[in-house]
Amino acid sequence: MDGEQSDGAGEGRRFVPPGRRSGLPQLDFPPVRNGIDYLASVVEHLDEEESAVEPRDLKYAVLHLQAAAEVLLKARLLREHWSLVFKDPGRATRKDFDSADFESCSTGAAVERLRDIAGIDFEKKETEALSALAKDRNALQHYGLTHSAHAVEARAGKVLDFLMRFLEEELLPLLSGPERETAARDMVPVSDGVRNISSFVTRRLNRLRGELKGQESLTLQCPDCEQMTLVVVPGGGLCHFCGASWSSDESIAFDYLEARGETEEQIQLCPQCDDYALVEGVVFADDPNAAGALYCFACTARYTVGELISCAGCSRLWPIEADEDGGADPLCPECREQTQPESIG
Ligand SMILES: [Zn+2]
Ligand SMILES: [Zn+2]
Ligand SMILES: [Zn+2]
Repeated sequence: MDGEQSDGAGEGRRFVPPGRRSGLPQLDFPPVRNGIDYLASVVEHLDEEESAVEPRDLKYAVLHLQAAAEVLLKARLLREHWSLVFKDPGRATRKDFDSADFESCSTGAAVERLRDIAGIDFEKKETEALSALAKDRNALQHYGLTHSAHAVEARAGKVLDFLMRFLEEELLPLLSGPERETAARDMVPVSDGVRNISSFVTRRLNRLRGELKGQESLTLQCPDCEQMTLVVVPGGGLCHFCGASWSSDESIAFDYLEARGETEEQIQLCPQCDDYALVEGVVFADDPNAAGALYCFACTARYTVGELISCAGCSRLWPIEADEDGGADPLCPECREQTQPESIG
């Protein structure tokens, strides 16, 4: 009975995801169903309406979410070509694929290939949420829960949102007939669960909005959980959603930029306190639709973009009204002293 295994003649009892029957140019259903099944487990673990989310729930939610992401992204990749799920498609063989005997590509590589080869658009936020999830998964697997549970939960929620969108836009339309019906039916409890999870988060955020009333001019997006619940103080801040806290202006500025995919080179000299802690494009809760202020994480000085100008001498940012001459070469006081030594005293 097992003797037919190696000939790849299409017995239909092969391992998922390579379980595509030879020659059929159709998306295989098992990986999609498998992915939906993982998602169902994720929402069961995260649904606060059922029971409080314990660290153990969170652990399995993250592990299964990562599994769902892998399975679903690769299911879409299979639709392009079976060799694309190999780590190295150049060395892919049909024999290895049929026997499921190969090293498959990472989630990150799957996203890149879907973008480059299948022309699928991913938002930056989505790919960032996926890599954050992969980090959480590794940390959980090796060290247990080291981050704030709420931050992990909030990040998991983002990937869940993304995978629901991906399923609806990129996978379900490729299915037909009974496959599609089954998938749609399997999705119902998942969608319900997701609503419970997001309504829980929304309720929490609404409650926090009341608690943080009056502090909107000091409230910005938390680098850890990405909620608008980080209240800054000189040289640090505390997130009221996930509990993350910072007590040095370097680390909070660095983390803030890192969460946006930028580096510490973006940190500039603050005109008010002379510390390297000024960051551009910081959005506050009192002006959520603005392009973002220049904010100093050391002294909490806050400027709008038009308020500061680059010094023509040293290029540091300086308040525009300090340019007394109103000339074409605005200079900071230091550079002004150096270029006009006779005027000192
Ligand atoms: Zn937070
Ligand atoms: Zn400052
Ligand atoms: Zn200067």
